[in-house]
Amino acid sequence: MPAVSITRMLADTNAAPLGERRAVAGVVVLGWEDARAYVDAAEEVGCPLILQAGPGARAHMPVNLIGPMMRHLADAASVPVAVHFDHGKALDECIAGLEHGFTSIMYDGSLLPVDENIATSCKIAEAARSANASFEGEVGVVGYTDGAASHGTSVEEVARYDAAVEPDALAISIGNVHLQQEKAATIDRELLTEIEARTTAPLVLHGGSGIANIDRRWLAANSRVAKFNIGTELRMAFGKSLRDGLAAEPDQFDRNRILQATMDPVKATAIDVLRGLWEPSA
Ligand SMILES: [Zn+2]
Repeated sequence: MPAVSITRMLADTNAAPLGERRAVAGVVVLGWEDARAYVDAAEEVGCPLILQAGPGARAHMPVNLIGPMMRHLADAASVPVAVHFDHGKALDECIAGLEHGFTSIMYDGSLLPVDENIATSCKIAEAARSANASFEGEVGVVGYTDGAASHGTSVEEVARYDAAVEPDALAISIGNVHLQQEKAATIDRELLTEIEARTTAPLVLHGGSGIANIDRRWLAANSRVAKFNIGTELRMAFGKSLRDGLAAEPDQFDRNRILQATMDPVKATAIDVLRGLWEPSA
């Protein structure tokens, strides 16, 4: 089916009654093999999927290649798949994303004063909508393990942002941290409840790898968190299978053979991630 935006996907999951909700994974794509494995996993689970390219992927592969590559997979999938531009930092690069197949754009103005974040977000959201794409914004800073510190989402700021921008998805900082290799995040459910009371957009948690599976399931079923970004957990499965494959075949030098050995293990890890969010009460 043709690629979709994330707007309907996330609104639909939040339309279910509390306790019976599901969430969608935004999975970090770095190349062909992982993207192909993620789509295979979503087709096997029978759930929607968000393929996303962040700044690292876009620095490694030009956006006019990675956008159409992911779009090709999305258009050919038997389940709804969105192609998401993660952590855009400026209007011009977000526009370039819209011109190269992305069906969803995230603008990350979280380090700016909230009024500046709102002003630029409104411009990018308008550009996205006129291209039939979705818009994700962020209020509060989601920090990085061994990097920039988090700054929890301000309830007042997120309420203003949500009313002014009306994003299709809204990333918040409630204890989630990027690049965690352990399930070390402590989610502030009290802050989440306050944010839910003052906003209406589907909510997004970046740093999903660091959130315990049991917490991901609870949040998927019982809150308005509709999208979990998952990168590190999948990249770790890729790295391990790559090392194992090379150790098992030390004379192998063919790039395709080496990388193909990662696809089944990455797919298996993705299936576990997707089931946890899509069948949270199973
Ligand atoms: Zn992020």
